[in-house]
Amino acid sequence: MSPTSPPFADRLLAWWRENGRHDLPWQHPREAYRVWVSEIMLQQTQVETVIGYFDRFMQRFPDIQSLAEAELDDVLASWSGLGYYARARNLHSAAREVTESLDGVLPADPDVLVQLPGIGRSTAAAIVAQAFDRRAVILDGNVKRVLSRHAGVSGWPGAPAVERELWREADRRTPEKRAADYTQAIMDLGATVCRRSSPACDACPVVGDCVAFARNLQHELPTPRPKRDLPERASRFLIARDASDRVLLVRRPPSGIWGGLWCLPEIGHVEFETRESLPAPRSFRHVFTHFALHMSFDHARVEATPTHVGEGGSLEWFVLDRALTAGLPQPVRKVLSTL
Ligand code: SF4
Repeated sequence: MSPTSPPFADRLLAWWRENGRHDLPWQHPREAYRVWVSEIMLQQTQVETVIGYFDRFMQRFPDIQSLAEAELDDVLASWSGLGYYARARNLHSAAREVTESLDGVLPADPDVLVQLPGIGRSTAAAIVAQAFDRRAVILDGNVKRVLSRHAGVSGWPGAPAVERELWREADRRTPEKRAADYTQAIMDLGATVCRRSSPACDACPVVGDCVAFARNLQHELPTPRPKRDLPERASRFLIARDASDRVLLVRRPPSGIWGGLWCLPEIGHVEFETRESLPAPRSFRHVFTHFALHMSFDHARVEATPTHVGEGGSLEWFVLDRALTAGLPQPVRKVLSTL
């Protein structure tokens, strides 16, 4: 790397002009509500998957007001399949807060945005940079990977000290001007060149001063999260059918796992009388961030609507086709679609 080489941002922006993604749906028009929704969807999901969901979401909820006025059920149904439903619940309650307290306008100030449900420091900055073209420093998963490698920062990026160092590195590289383009450019570099398992260093615009490349550490950095054993849990679920073949679902409480979604009732939480046993779907293991759940099933035609034993959310019979359009956790959708 020669001492006269242009700064990191200049090289990145020149690369992005030719190689970046310029036709993502939230870039046209690149306005705050659309950028916000895209950023929330992209938090745990690849761009290619998000595009279809984003387009449908925008047709259904074209602006903050329509999202704020919607029933949570409709929002969750539009999110169904994307997973991590807390994102949808937060998006919905943030839209209500913006409508009630901020005149329905997303502010161009990251310090105000981070007060809204579901908007963290990096997401707030990404909204401000992309929608308002103001300098704001982002550090999402892709950027953490790029900077861990480029600056040679070791240690798991989720550890507070490592994260602080990465924020400093991100700040040092963020230019004063062209905030929107730079933000998209560094995200694109992480997604398409500085990839997790096979970084394309020969195509990288910042290879000249990349510490990981110089020391052949691309596959060591970022340092993986320290291993820990996931706790294992098991639940047995009831697939209850009535005489018309409808299926019984229970609404989960608004917070916690699968909050607000429609789920199968758990055996032990409902009382029921079997009229006829039906072939049960196979059991399987579903992995959450903090534990793994072994899900098994009883499938039965029941005499009458089961009743709760103790506390429980509302129980409702669904025609199968309608159930599949409701807000369902992905493993419940998987099971119902086999019936
Ligand atoms: Fe990532 Fe390789 Fe570029 Fe370094 S040179 S930033 S490791 S793609």
